[in-house]
Amino acid sequence: MTVTSQNPFTATVLGLPRIGPRRELKRAIESYWAGRIDAAELRAVGRTLRRDQLTALAAAGLDSIPVGTFSHYDQMLDTAVLFGALPPRVAGIADPLDRYFAAARGAQSIEPLEMTKWFDTNYHYLVPEIGPDTVFTLHPDKLLVELTEAQELGVAARPVVIGPLTFLKLAKGVDGVAPLNRLPELLPLYRDLLRQLAAAGAQWVQIDEPAVVTDLTEAELSLLLETYADLTAAPDRPKLLVATYFGDPGPALAALASTSVDGVAVDFTSGTTVSDVASVPALSGKLLVAGVVDGRNVWRTDLDGALTTLGTLLGSAGALAVSSSSSLLHVPYSLDAEPDLDPVLRSWLAFGAEKVAEVRALATALRDGTDAIADELAAARAAARSRRTDARLRNDAVRARLDSLGPEAIHRAPADERRALQRDRLRLPLLPTTTIGSYPQTGAIRLARAALRKGELTAEQYHERMRAEIADVVALQEKLGLDVLVHGEPERNDMVQYFAEQLDGFAATANGWVQSYGTRCVRPPILFGDVVRREPMTVEWIGYAQSLTDKPVKGMLTGPVTILAWSFVRDDQPLAETARQVALAIRDETVDLQGAGIRVVQVDEPALRELLPLRAEAKQAYLDWAVAAFRLATSGVSDATQIHTHLCYSEFGEVIGAIAALDADVTSIEAARSRMEVLDDLNAVGFHLGVGPGVYDIHSPRVPSVEEITASLRAALKAVPAERLWVNPDCGLKTRGPAEVEQSLRNMVAAAQAVR
Ligand code: GLN
Ligand code: ZN
Repeated sequence: MTVTSQNPFTATVLGLPRIGPRRELKRAIESYWAGRIDAAELRAVGRTLRRDQLTALAAAGLDSIPVGTFSHYDQMLDTAVLFGALPPRVAGIADPLDRYFAAARGAQSIEPLEMTKWFDTNYHYLVPEIGPDTVFTLHPDKLLVELTEAQELGVAARPVVIGPLTFLKLAKGVDGVAPLNRLPELLPLYRDLLRQLAAAGAQWVQIDEPAVVTDLTEAELSLLLETYADLTAAPDRPKLLVATYFGDPGPALAALASTSVDGVAVDFTSGTTVSDVASVPALSGKLLVAGVVDGRNVWRTDLDGALTTLGTLLGSAGALAVSSSSSLLHVPYSLDAEPDLDPVLRSWLAFGAEKVAEVRALATALRDGTDAIADELAAARAAARSRRTDARLRNDAVRARLDSLGPEAIHRAPADERRALQRDRLRLPLLPTTTIGSYPQTGAIRLARAALRKGELTAEQYHERMRAEIADVVALQEKLGLDVLVHGEPERNDMVQYFAEQLDGFAATANGWVQSYGTRCVRPPILFGDVVRREPMTVEWIGYAQSLTDKPVKGMLTGPVTILAWSFVRDDQPLAETARQVALAIRDETVDLQGAGIRVVQVDEPALRELLPLRAEAKQAYLDWAVAAFRLATSGVSDATQIHTHLCYSEFGEVIGAIAALDADVTSIEAARSRMEVLDDLNAVGFHLGVGPGVYDIHSPRVPSVEEITASLRAALKAVPAERLWVNPDCGLKTRGPAEVEQSLRNMVAAAQAVR
């Protein structure tokens, strides 16, 4: 195996994290928003972060380094700025940085752009709007500045831009515009951009086209061909690397290879095989950037396996470079920030910096032979062996229990029978009122949690504070006259982490932050082994709440799919199997809640839509196991115990059938489309269970009026009979202030009474 010096480059990654190893950028941006620092100070923070990052990557041995993936908020928003495509409603804001942030998060009377998930990751991008008045103009300053910075450091910089097809396909047409129809206007600007980047000294430019791993229509495939025929025909252009990632590019790979693009990046960690590539002879004249190091998960790479893949690919491409499968945006910066992590577990992991080292090692082996990385190979093999044999990975009792479960384990009595039993037991009024679970996470609650962590509060003292919070929340709900109460979730830092911390098989990181959107960062737990519930996780809190009231208190749990979606999951068994283990733990919790006198249990699945595969052919299998996991989690209780679920943040179209199949007695739902549309969609699939279409938007501090909520309920009653309609906000209240919550709920209860 050799890679010759004709190789343009040999070791790279497709993109970089930007929040800062210690979330420096997040803090700086929030300080800027709060007026504590000015734009110059904010820009200086970004410059320093970029300089340190580039220097480290060059020192780590990457011989081509992406630039331009830095962002003050989001790369799709940056692309909209690059092509002058911000919505007209922010045009009046003179300062470019403030205009940018207004598009991202709104301003006084300006609605922000919509935000949605970036493919099947946990990253959320801002959805550019293309309207009849959008006139594309080129503003390459950000990219040129970042390129120059990198060059001044002597770094082999490769500017990165999102490709025209992906940009337009992910944008939203406004006032009847079909964004892809605007491609012909955009292509000349891309050509101009490429010319300017080449003139500034860029030898290679990476154009990201992840949209090609979704199902493209024939027309879209033709547009892809036209786009790259057009861009490669431009004079004075740099070499073009088209990056595909998050899945198998399928027919798009041959299409891209048939154009004059100089290189293609392919993700070998999510389904693409070497034979897919070998079947595209046109690649033989091009650079293949092989994503063999997983950019989205945290497991150490099997270097032997990766070398086998790379060795086979050598014959299929003109030149080969080793890369991460995607941008490193989706993993934490470095294991160096985790000194307290269990050393054995740690040896199984690779975060961003470790992935860069893996890429370098693989490229070295291709160039100099495997002896040159003998130490790295030995360490990787030892880690793999340790992971295969570690006792924590297998719990035979859990496996035996799951194996012994028959079909009755996911079976409850028919919904009508359950409804009758629950009606007699709960004696709720028509249009029952409830909330989604959390009440405001006040400063006092956060401070108490921080004090517990620092040892300034004893566990007992912390406990007392949380009980006091619960008592307050129960008293408030009694006062307001809600029908099904909640305990308010004060003890939860996060709806997934809270459970992960109490289940065997999960590990938490201290600093493993990844960007979720803008300045919001999350620290996903690492699900590494068989999942075991050691003891009840919520019963004490919820049982306490129930002891304070005669009204039913709804127990709150997070569902198996959401726990998986918001964790780094093990890669050594099918996700469906892991889901069953998590479901079993949640099931045991529902049974214990019931045993403690809880009559209503809600199992939240806000992420149900998130794990939906990108390709149509894989969707049904996913929905089948996701639904089965939910039903396993919720079918252990008696038919008289009422199961609720809550779904949010999505377009439910594709999963509407699955929502019905969850068979929850009551579903509260926050819809991206209008409430009425969701109800119509549910009716169309024969949904006949309880439903609570959120009657007001909790994402805004506005207090909805009684009239407004009344109107919303009356509208819902056109689609749902009163016997099935529930009255609730559209999501949890944790981000809201106590005063507005009290007023909003008072109005909600009044509206329900008026309509009754
Ligand atoms: N029960 C959770 C809460 O109220 C649900 C949160 C969510 O939908 N993401 O906070
Ligand atoms: Zn929600």
